[in-house]
Amino acid sequence: MNILILGSGGREHALAWAVMQNPKCDKLIVAPGNAGIAQIATCADLDINHGGAVVTFVEENAIDFVIVGPEAPLAAGVSDRLRDAGLLVFGPSEAAAKLEASKAFTKEICAAVKAPTAGYGHFTDAEAAKNYIRQQGAPIVVKADGLAAGKGVIMAFDEATALEAIDDMFGGAFGEAGAEVVIEEFMEGEEASLFVLVDGTNILSMGSAQDHKRVGEGDTGLNTGGMGAYSPAPVLSAAIEAKAMAEIIKPTMEEMARCGAPYQGILYAGLMIKDGQPRLVEYNVRFGDPECQVLMMRLGAQAMDLMHAAAEGRLHQAQVNWADDHAITVVMAAKGYPGSYEKGTEIKGLDAQIEDGHNMVFHAGTKAQDGKVLATGGRVLNVTARGDTLQEARDRAYAAADAIDWPGGFMRRDIGWRALK
Ligand code: AMP
Repeated sequence: MNILILGSGGREHALAWAVMQNPKCDKLIVAPGNAGIAQIATCADLDINHGGAVVTFVEENAIDFVIVGPEAPLAAGVSDRLRDAGLLVFGPSEAAAKLEASKAFTKEICAAVKAPTAGYGHFTDAEAAKNYIRQQGAPIVVKADGLAAGKGVIMAFDEATALEAIDDMFGGAFGEAGAEVVIEEFMEGEEASLFVLVDGTNILSMGSAQDHKRVGEGDTGLNTGGMGAYSPAPVLSAAIEAKAMAEIIKPTMEEMARCGAPYQGILYAGLMIKDGQPRLVEYNVRFGDPECQVLMMRLGAQAMDLMHAAAEGRLHQAQVNWADDHAITVVMAAKGYPGSYEKGTEIKGLDAQIEDGHNMVFHAGTKAQDGKVLATGGRVLNVTARGDTLQEARDRAYAAADAIDWPGGFMRRDIGWRALK
């Protein structure tokens, strides 16, 4: 098969790495890709949010199967354009991608199927939103309805912060995404992510992970896109996973099909777990980044067969062959991230990492220039390793990260602490 992956982050590097190991892959193109991806696949310049451009590219390059990495092309209907043209794609339709693109839509679906989640109000008017906050009191969570690159969620521990968030959102701080807001009950507990493959009808677990969102050790400081992750998530026991499947995921998928928007692709459920009960925090319609890196490290070549089976509606015949292993990824970010940071600093010592079968450095924000690798983004490298235990995986990941010579970067040294505690 000739395969096209859309995206350019660490997630797409990990997907590319897994796909390349599968003997069914003849040719792999990643658009737009990055410097790390360019070492294992062909990178191509393409406007991945433009359905017409993607269809033309797929036809011209005799692509048999398209895997969509990020949410933006999904929300823009790129999967629909590909399917309309009779092409095979892994990723939900624009209608099904609303599970991520609209928080109000997801809350309505949850209410319809009585899936356990935070109580909420949905507002298009600032005054009504503020009255609701005054009524409910803090702590409370204010969310922009639409896609806001992970930044549209304000956890308010006092009323004033929540009211200010309303002014910001209706004042346009998140653009279109904040024209409507969802205000939620604050849920306590431990968070974990459950990943499931869905082919429109059948659902198959693709494993669990936990990530570290805060920039500082001990999970302190500002929120980021994620400073590290590990899989499996010990808090998501088999019993809790079964509960989440039965009470949240299965009813949601049935409701989507009933509404005429059957879901196909990877569904990532953010869960809050307390006293053995999972509640839904949010859905995402793509792999998490950096969670994808640890899932791919554990799944390897079979990941491609599983995504292919989902795209072809054959998940009832598929199964995941889990090794009894653990994986961890440590994010190396540019100094200053998530605030302002310098771009273009040089990274050395990367080649030494790639030989050992137990670890891999997935690139996120890098570019190759004049034989050098330069940092181009905030989160730049994902140093990922596997082991028989989480501790072994972690030791390998940090040994590999320490071998990288990048004075412009930093990492947290405590990824996985909760699980190792
Ligand atoms: P979301 O984009 O909806 O996942 O929100 C981002 C993060 O905010 C989540 O991963 C949680 O850590 C936190 N969060 C969101 N909603 C709630 C809630 N209702 N209660 C507590 N924490 C929340």
